[in-house]
Amino acid sequence: MAPYLQSKAHLRELVTRSTTIDSYLFHLLVRQNLTCGILKSMNRSYTELIARLRKIEANSPRVRMRELGGFRIQDREYEMYAIDFRAKEPGTVKICISAGMHGDELASVEAMAQFLEKNANNEALLKTFSFTIFPCDNPSGYELETRENADGIDLNREFRKSNPASEVKILADAAEQMTFDHVYELHEDVDSYGFYLYEIAADKSMRAGPDVVRAVSAAGYPVNLSECIEGMEAHCGVIAPGVSRIRRRHLPKAVFIYRLGAPHVMTFETPGRALPLEDRVRMQLICLAVALEKAGGVSNVGKSS
Ligand SMILES: [Zn+2]
Repeated sequence: MAPYLQSKAHLRELVTRSTTIDSYLFHLLVRQNLTCGILKSMNRSYTELIARLRKIEANSPRVRMRELGGFRIQDREYEMYAIDFRAKEPGTVKICISAGMHGDELASVEAMAQFLEKNANNEALLKTFSFTIFPCDNPSGYELETRENADGIDLNREFRKSNPASEVKILADAAEQMTFDHVYELHEDVDSYGFYLYEIAADKSMRAGPDVVRAVSAAGYPVNLSECIEGMEAHCGVIAPGVSRIRRRHLPKAVFIYRLGAPHVMTFETPGRALPLEDRVRMQLICLAVALEKAGGVSNVGKSS
């Protein structure tokens, strides 16, 4: 007898271990959102996450949290935020970091928070860069530890869609007000045995994907070397789709921001179940450090001055 279901991630694990018919039934249960109470139980607190970020803000004059707007879902109210992280004389390379689009990808938000904690007073870093951070794109999914939001919607297919979910509307409105040079989306793939990334940049000289993969591998972590990942052609852990082949509606946020004009976008995918959380967070931090080194020639990410 299987133990009780703790979360959708746990459910998925059971699905992969069960027989085909059982898998089919479990799959139906999830897809149709016929979730019983136990699957809806909250695993983490968004309020606690915001309190953690407020603490960083209180300890650094360079960090400012901005309210983007609120929404209601399943009888709960949430406020969305962007974090401005920049010096008085802002660095000229504009970076966007996004976390928490999928609530079951635990290393994403954790790496974002640790990046900010480590660098909140890193003046050398802010000489080159100014950051906008979207700390948690899917607050209800974060609390439930589900890929989708509490209404069962995958928010990362809702950009450029008529009548999108509230979270997406708030994020899209905010992103449309800003410009970025480099965008880093922090994700995980719960089905992958190793790290990989997506990279879009029409100007090939901006590309940093192979450097990021090399650094992750050099740190002793596995890389997904399949030639086809998620139905797309991959080369040594990098998926670099041709820009003209990317769809125009129902977009992921990375593509949406690219289409808004950001010339370089990378999405990091750490293996969501193959390694402990601590290692996956470390992988994400390596990705950010290498990407920033390449973007601005700065090699002191994580060292406060
Ligand atoms: Zn994801």
